[in-house]
Amino acid sequence: MAEAGILTVDDLLTLAPRRYEDRSRFMTLAQMACLPAGVKGTTLVEVRSSRLLRTRRRGLTITRARVSDGSTEEEVVWFNQPYLVRHLTPGRRLILFGCVGGGGRRPDCIQNPEMELLPQDEGAEASVHMGRVVPIYPRTAGFSSRQLRRLLHQALAAGAARAPDPLPVELLRRRELPERPAALRALHFPADKVDPAQLAARRTPAQRRLIYEELLLLLAALHLKRQERRRAPRGWTCLPAAETDEELKSYLPFSLTAGQEKAWQIIAGDLRGPTPMARLLQGDVACGKTAIAILALLLAVKSGSQAALMVPTEVLALQHHARLDQLLASSGIRVGLLLGGRPTDAARRLKAEMAGVEPCLVVGTHALIQRDVRFGNLGLAVIDEQHRFGVAQRLRLAGKGRQPDLLVMTATPIPRSLALTRYGDLDLVEIRDRPPGRAPVRTEILPRSRAESAWEAVRGAAAAGQQAYIVYPLVDESKSSDLAAACEAYVDLGAGALAGLRLGLVHGRLPARDRQATMAAFTAGHLQVLVATTVIEVGIDVEDATVLVVEHAERFGLAQLHQLRGRVGRGNRPSTCYLLHRDGLGDEARQRLSVLKKTSDGFELAREDLRLRGAGELLGVRQHGSMGLRLADIVRDEEILQEAREDCLKISTADMPAELAQAARRRWGQPLGLGSGWESDVAVGSRHDHP
Ligand code: ADP
Ligand code: MG
Repeated sequence: MAEAGILTVDDLLTLAPRRYEDRSRFMTLAQMACLPAGVKGTTLVEVRSSRLLRTRRRGLTITRARVSDGSTEEEVVWFNQPYLVRHLTPGRRLILFGCVGGGGRRPDCIQNPEMELLPQDEGAEASVHMGRVVPIYPRTAGFSSRQLRRLLHQALAAGAARAPDPLPVELLRRRELPERPAALRALHFPADKVDPAQLAARRTPAQRRLIYEELLLLLAALHLKRQERRRAPRGWTCLPAAETDEELKSYLPFSLTAGQEKAWQIIAGDLRGPTPMARLLQGDVACGKTAIAILALLLAVKSGSQAALMVPTEVLALQHHARLDQLLASSGIRVGLLLGGRPTDAARRLKAEMAGVEPCLVVGTHALIQRDVRFGNLGLAVIDEQHRFGVAQRLRLAGKGRQPDLLVMTATPIPRSLALTRYGDLDLVEIRDRPPGRAPVRTEILPRSRAESAWEAVRGAAAAGQQAYIVYPLVDESKSSDLAAACEAYVDLGAGALAGLRLGLVHGRLPARDRQATMAAFTAGHLQVLVATTVIEVGIDVEDATVLVVEHAERFGLAQLHQLRGRVGRGNRPSTCYLLHRDGLGDEARQRLSVLKKTSDGFELAREDLRLRGAGELLGVRQHGSMGLRLADIVRDEEILQEAREDCLKISTADMPAELAQAARRRWGQPLGLGSGWESDVAVGSRHDHP
């Protein structure tokens, strides 16, 4: 069970059923056959005969059984579950959950139903699995639903639910929530008279109470984390920087927008204030977050401490490094660059310098959080494109210093509910405007067969001295077919539609040196077209790029496409973004893409993505999973989250009740690094990626 993250009885008790089955009344096979298409039912049957068929199509097996419930007989088939057949002995009783039909050549049989085998002799256990509304669990570490149900029944019977309730009584009363033991019992073994619709929607009082509890504990833990951080003094030495804001800003080639100015005032206040900063800087693509990061880094280094900027891709690290190096040339600050791969002499020297106490400024990728990297006096850690990192990585970078200031930046604006749970331990600051003089980006959605108009635009841009990106999805860096598509396109376009133009190709598998050279050539304008995988998704900033073509746009999320689209429209010339999708794309998918045409507001797009694809997709694979939540779903349960938030605010202004604080620490302490400040050894299980 530990393998599935279940370490305590309470972990087991909060294992959420995937669904429930009403076994107080089974339907007959005849009734099942009359259900409307797609509606599933539960029925109790006995096996008459069964056999296993192997088809000529390689690898496909069919398990076929004739079952009866006394009234009629039906045929049941399971595909590719050959092991079933040895259980399906004549006379064996089964519970099936499914429906008749489902297409194919045999529309009249029950296909791939879920099944529970009843033991030959039910004995005393019958009342656990039968004759009531029973929970069906997700397969957990190899335990079947039936085994889990038995375990939970035993645990509850043994009084396991009687542990102290972390929620204060007055809260339960005010929110009209049931007490914990009763709620846990009803979660797993609902009363017969429970409303099935309510149960399925996770809105019975018991479910509400447990969802509420889980969210309240999370919010309480985040509150404790914030508090802990505010109390802890900085552990690094800092001289008050002599530089005024004006002097710092003089390194930038432009003056700040009003939004940037406001954000900088807040961040500068934190940096000059007495307690360590922990801030999320949020702003739509191309609003100019880098400028704020530069000012912060500069202030830290001028104060005599070390500062680091971590970014998710090498390509972006190179860009930031080059830019910082150029802007700070007159400041006397040298900017180090630390990338992954085999350590070079330069990298070794840089690491030695970082381990010392002299001020320094480094830009790097994940290489910055490797075990062998030490900072002697890290004062400020900045993380760009935070949504590409996990929380553990954020903590690990901060853990390289002793309570350094932390600034994390993201262009994926996420709905409040998500931000609350995901970044709830950070203070938020936003940039809502954009640098002046930006021409809008037009978005065209075209099927692949009409790609010619996109290529025409690329040729037009090149003729006008501008540049273009052509992006291929590479969902999985190791999937070679995706990579091949980008490489092939590079060759085909160069010989065909874009013959005569200067094309470059970058992807994650190229040797770093080649990739760097190509990026540099594109940035400098020597290359007119950059064919790329999604390595350019975040951060890349080339002003002369005015055309972006995205291939297989249907394979991207809206937020991701918005990020990609942000690669153009960075100068003052109008830009166009072509989203090419495969021919014959369904209506729904086309509609999804068309949202991009309607709005360029990252917020709105993120909300749409959240609705359509769920939180995991929106946050990106790295932050995937249910964020470690067991019962709650922040999209479905947004309204409960809101209640929990109100209550958490009220509770925490006074002193948090001890039981609540304790339970919050127990549940979320480890993933959030509670009680360890910025310690680096925050163990986050690989199975859950906790907020
Ligand atoms: P993002 O917020 O997406 O990281 P960047 O920091 O890359 O955006 O900024 C996008 C572009 O806007 C860059 O080319 C940058 O130089 C430019 N920029 C940023 N701030 C300003 C400003 N105040 N005035 C003019 N240009 C700006
Ligand atoms: Mg950026």
